[in-house]
Amino acid sequence: MKKPTPPTRVLIGPVEYQIEFDSYSTFRHGEIMASVTNIARHKIRINKDHPDVEIELVDSILHEAIHAMDQIYKINLKEEQVVTLANALTHFIEYNPHVPYWIERHSSWLEKQK
Ligand SMILES: [Zn+2]
Repeated sequence: MKKPTPPTRVLIGPVEYQIEFDSYSTFRHGEIMASVTNIARHKIRINKDHPDVEIELVDSILHEAIHAMDQIYKINLKEEQVVTLANALTHFIEYNPHVPYWIERHSSWLEKQK
């Protein structure tokens, strides 16, 4: 199976975030980070050189999207809450892929009812 192309943009509330894959060396607690969000520039950056980039990719994108949602919707989450929410959502989607698939079809169906 060919590796699927990851998303290059996501809409979070009214704001479009670009998803970029690049090399960087931002550290937190002595560990190189897999991803970071630039709230001011509306960018989610995935560290393509992170050793677990592919394993962590879904979690990383969800994690950074939650940071953006936190800022846009003024939720005021702590880092641990963002980590746990991203892990829980990643697990939910991986074990229930029929749900996001159904959401897409349901939204299309609803759109056609207008
Ligand atoms: Zn974070």
